[in-house]
Amino acid sequence: RGKRAFIAGVADDNGYGWAIAKSLAAAGAEIIVGTWVPALNIFESSLRRGKFDESRVLPDGSLMEITKVYPMDAVYDGPEDVPEDVKTNKRYSGSSNWTVKELVETVKKDFGSIDILVHSLANGPEVSKPLLETSRNGYLAALSASSYSFISLLQHFLPIMNPGGASISLTYIASERIIPGYGGGMSSAKAALESDTRVLAFEAGRKNKIRVNTISAGPLRSRAAKAIGFIDMMIDYSLANAPLQKELSAEEVGNAAAFLASPLSSAITGAVVYVDNGLNAMGVGV
Ligand code: NAD
Repeated sequence: RGKRAFIAGVADDNGYGWAIAKSLAAAGAEIIVGTWVPALNIFESSLRRGKFDESRVLPDGSLMEITKVYPMDAVYDGPEDVPEDVKTNKRYSGSSNWTVKELVETVKKDFGSIDILVHSLANGPEVSKPLLETSRNGYLAALSASSYSFISLLQHFLPIMNPGGASISLTYIASERIIPGYGGGMSSAKAALESDTRVLAFEAGRKNKIRVNTISAGPLRSRAAKAIGFIDMMIDYSLANAPLQKELSAEEVGNAAAFLASPLSSAITGAVVYVDNGLNAMGVGV
């Protein structure tokens, strides 16, 4: 049987999650996705109305099928963690079972198991504030949505992941080099995510033979990146300074993710893999 992949963090056809879904689908995987609750309606109706049909086209001409779309909010582990104002919020009350624990229970009921877990989500409410001006709440919210969310997903999915499976997250070089503008604790969140990749690779490898890697991706004009506000500058900077002078396509990250999810990478775990046209290797701008 083909492999089954759960991709958390797909809400349109512009981001890395969508591109990873396509590369995995092209390699023969069955695709199920988790979509942030507030974005669910628009994503599902756009899918249904054919708005993404052009971007669903796979290299063999067929259309990527998404077997099921699950509502999720990765900052809540179980129903007891959801505050009253979120529970009663119209956008949330229309969906159910979207905390991580309930989500995984539902996936288990529907499919039994998965082989590949992809975490392609991040959120930092104060991302546009310098770290020096970031509030405690803003910082902790960035870590909760962008780092702990991966721990929680892996913790809950691990028991239903088939041995030999793989998990992948997306990180950014602001974790290890100064990128002014990537604020609000988002640089800290990516540093945590990369460190956790190593520790979780050990724990999930020993316990369930699951590999854990993260892709440090170059700049892409996704919805999330546009919200940060400096994406065009980062793309121009990369074009001017990276060893490979071309705009990075989401597909290139998707293909690297497909490799990291496949047996071709069976000895790679605990790694930060750069998919950034080589920009990380530069010491100075040119
Ligand atoms: P994106 O907007 O396509 O993806 C982010 C997703 O996170 C969205 O679908 C959003 O709905 C979802 N999300 C936010 N909060 C959530 C929550 N609490 N629960 C569930 N989902 C939630 O943007 P993207 O840039 O493709 O981001 C995907 C990943 O790639 C992120 O981890 C991001 O940090 C990383 N990344 C992006 C770039 C870039 O330049 N775009 C570079 C390096 C790394």
